[in-house]
Amino acid sequence: MAELIDSYNRRIDYLRLSVTDHCNYRCFYCRTKAGDRVAGNHDFLSFEEMTRLVRLFTELGVSRLRLTGGEPLVRRHLVDFVGQLEKLPGLADISLSTNGHLLERFAAPLKAAGVSRVNISLDSIDADNFRRITRNGELQQVSRGIDAALAAGMAPVKINMVVMRGVNDHEIESMLDYVLERGLELRFIETMPVGEAGRRVMDLHYPAAQILQRVRERFATQLVPVKGGRGAGPARYYQLANGPARVGVISAVSRHFCEGCNRVRLTAEGELVLCLGHENRVSLREPLRAGCGDDEIMQLIRTAIASKPARHDFLRRDKSHIPLSSMTSLGG
Ligand code: SAM
Repeated sequence: MAELIDSYNRRIDYLRLSVTDHCNYRCFYCRTKAGDRVAGNHDFLSFEEMTRLVRLFTELGVSRLRLTGGEPLVRRHLVDFVGQLEKLPGLADISLSTNGHLLERFAAPLKAAGVSRVNISLDSIDADNFRRITRNGELQQVSRGIDAALAAGMAPVKINMVVMRGVNDHEIESMLDYVLERGLELRFIETMPVGEAGRRVMDLHYPAAQILQRVRERFATQLVPVKGGRGAGPARYYQLANGPARVGVISAVSRHFCEGCNRVRLTAEGELVLCLGHENRVSLREPLRAGCGDDEIMQLIRTAIASKPARHDFLRRDKSHIPLSSMTSLGG
């Protein structure tokens, strides 16, 4: 069985695939008001091209795939695409990251097609604050999407909350109550200086250590690190000592987790992005369209993986190495 091992002996078995740059929300920390700095006109890979690339990644040992964006649910025929991916023998897990706005309609068909679990971005449970953060989002609609994901049997349903000082940090406790009532998993995320919008909000950065302190105080309890709970992802999980619930934090900036990084990203335009914190990327669209064979493309992927940076360096004062393209084109 082939494996993708980078120069730091990390095994890459997880691909985040952005199926579109387009998004129906305009979260202020993700996109600038003027829009995104996205490359040229949108020449996205077709679903056939994406399926071929995912197949090649699985032949190289990638077994887990997350569909992201932009907002993946705004791309037409996504359910059929999942049906094609589901047939790939090497793919053990297909998951989805979404803002939840269209999930009420798509949760059941996506689950039936092969999406086993979902992460939903939810930065506020106050309708007005939610609208301010997303610039046009409808909390009720997302809430119905969450219910639909649970009803469809997606498990786990995880809520991702980017915590920002003075924007939504006052909602840490109410968000905890909200997720615990509904049996959801919660991950608090630190802002990252990715893209123009991300760089601008770094003064709102709210460190994970402070978030955890708030959780301890809210429940008057200790937090016990969950052994092995970190899984292959970036979140560190903590069990509330006096109850069954657990919370996760993604402390991308204050405490990086690059030594265990197992992932690469593929943009909707077919660029293989090796690290969220570095501009290094390799276009797979051109060789694909130039008629290169599977072996040639797999070799390109192997060579690219060998150049995966050791770590993101988000804290470096000079941020010129960090991508200017927004999270919405990188897929988060
Ligand atoms: N539209 C989908 C969604 O809402 O989950 C997928 C794409 S979105 C870019 C993926 C994730 O990136 C979201 O959870 C979002 O909150 C997060 N994100 C965007 N900009 C960020 C930033 N500057 N810092 C931290 N997280 C960010």
